[in-house]
Amino acid sequence: MVSFRHIVPGLRPAFREALDALASLVFPAPCRICEATLITASRIPVCPSCLASFQPLRGAACKKCGRPFVSDVAAAAPQPLCHLCRRDVYNFDLARSFAAYTDAMVRAIVLLKYHAVTPLGGWFATRLEEMVARDPDAFAADVVVPVPLHVSRLRERGYNQAELIARPLAKRLGLPLRSYLLVRMRPRPDKLKLTRKERWRTVRGAYAMREDTSIDKVRVLLVDDVFTTGATLDACARVLREAGAGRVVALTVARVAPEWLPVSTAVNPKRARQ
Ligand SMILES: [Zn+2]
Ligand SMILES: [Zn+2]
Repeated sequence: MVSFRHIVPGLRPAFREALDALASLVFPAPCRICEATLITASRIPVCPSCLASFQPLRGAACKKCGRPFVSDVAAAAPQPLCHLCRRDVYNFDLARSFAAYTDAMVRAIVLLKYHAVTPLGGWFATRLEEMVARDPDAFAADVVVPVPLHVSRLRERGYNQAELIARPLAKRLGLPLRSYLLVRMRPRPDKLKLTRKERWRTVRGAYAMREDTSIDKVRVLLVDDVFTTGATLDACARVLREAGAGRVVALTVARVAPEWLPVSTAVNPKRARQ
């Protein structure tokens, strides 16, 4: 894509963004996932076939955390819960994700996370809204809360990718967005890939409620980009529950499951750059 930010570096971000949007209409740009030339004037820099390639999770899954079942036997159980939910590991009431963490999805998440592709956040929010519309009782909420970033990470990146999804979702659902309800106290370690154990350890006690906020009986819809082990959503849900939340349900764009391999090799921000 032709970007004015390289030509005129001193411009204000909003103005630059407007120029970039104009440029994308005038100059044909490649899809940021597969690099095919985009022929339609869309604000989303991803081609229709890449968007259609995401694999929505509609199959049999754990009733609570949404972990897809590989075997039909587990799905046919009277209480279809995964091994973790049978042990009541998670503090949230319900979690669901839009699609599997496939290679195209990994690239889409990178665009959100490192390149602030806001229109893509809006597109994902529409998918999440469709999930809510299919089961309004299960996802009934009073507020939408994005999983927060630590302040140092927020400063470095300039935005929270979970909020790029949560903001348009809250708007579509007609619910207030409460970005500052939760605070991340400790940053995530810089290491790109964490083991399962490290994921649980690094988020334990990493989140807190902002002082002087009461959420007695409030139903919270937590939003994040990726469900990996569920440790982050669990840690946030624990804090919200302790503060009196009536219910905590969670939605993420993508879901990692151990049987979908390999995904870790694709998590490289440079790959999505042009
Ligand atoms: Zn494409
Ligand atoms: Zn489960």
